[in-house]
Amino acid sequence: FVIPDFQDFIKDIEEIYWTAKSNTDGKVASYIPQLARASPENWGVSVCTIDGQRFSIGDVTVPFTLQSCSKPLTYAMALETLGSDVVHKYIGTEPSGRNFNELVLDYNMKPHNPMINAGAILVCALLKTLDKPEMTLAEKFDYVMSFFSRLAGHELLSFNNAVFLSEREAADRNYALGFYMREHKCYPEKTNLRECMDFYFQCCSMEANCDIMSIMAATLANGGICPITDEKVLRPDSVRNVLSLMHSCGMYDYSGQFAFKVGLPAKSGVSGAMLIVVPNVMGICTWSPPLDPLGNSCRGLQFCEDLIMRFNFHKYDNI
Ligand code: GLN
Repeated sequence: FVIPDFQDFIKDIEEIYWTAKSNTDGKVASYIPQLARASPENWGVSVCTIDGQRFSIGDVTVPFTLQSCSKPLTYAMALETLGSDVVHKYIGTEPSGRNFNELVLDYNMKPHNPMINAGAILVCALLKTLDKPEMTLAEKFDYVMSFFSRLAGHELLSFNNAVFLSEREAADRNYALGFYMREHKCYPEKTNLRECMDFYFQCCSMEANCDIMSIMAATLANGGICPITDEKVLRPDSVRNVLSLMHSCGMYDYSGQFAFKVGLPAKSGVSGAMLIVVPNVMGICTWSPPLDPLGNSCRGLQFCEDLIMRFNFHKYDNI
């Protein structure tokens, strides 16, 4: 086993869980009513090792929307189907040093990276326009959902239509980003912007839970092979790219500090979810809705920092 004494390891995870539970910092996202209604009490942690050992504690079966946690997944899919050269002809690999939804492009007038809104909207445009362009938006939705599901060992994902409708209504900034990129000819030819925006909101509105998301993280930790089904979902080079950008850009404008303190690739979303990858060891998902001012889950961050105090999982711990 990759973690020889799993029972012992679980005891630590439980302690970290209970310590973080008493943290009542942060505010639940309030830009749409469906997220504003989330209970700040919710707190779940799931772990899935690359050899399939699993442990879950807390609210691990309560569904939440993927929100920005969908960004590494759509990016992975684009890498897998279109290849890195095509994807990075359109999208950079540099942290933006700005908020996730700022109206800003890089010096080449490309989105900085696929982990912020501009980049993720463009990834959706690439998936829609270049990968199987004959598919309708309805077919593309099923296609992406089943790809996400393969990452999760064929667990079923769901879709929150109320969140989707609200996202689309409260999306002035995302539309502004969409049009700004069109002004700068960021999209492939024949892109239908309205469809791409809908597709982006749909990806944000897909639903899973901690248990399911920990399997996705474990597939990334395992070089693209799902540890539950042994299915090869991603090529190792796609996984390398996804993890590199999660490491440098996955935690909003806290990414540099997170890379320094925790040293693990991770991605957070406004629903309070966090995907954390310990390469060659395990995937973790934490979920707790209260967010800090930069948009990261307060309990999720505390969990990561505590984990790194107890175990040598930081990328530079072992040198
Ligand atoms: N739906 C949100 C948006 O596009 C997702 C962003 C996030 O999770 N930070 O603004």
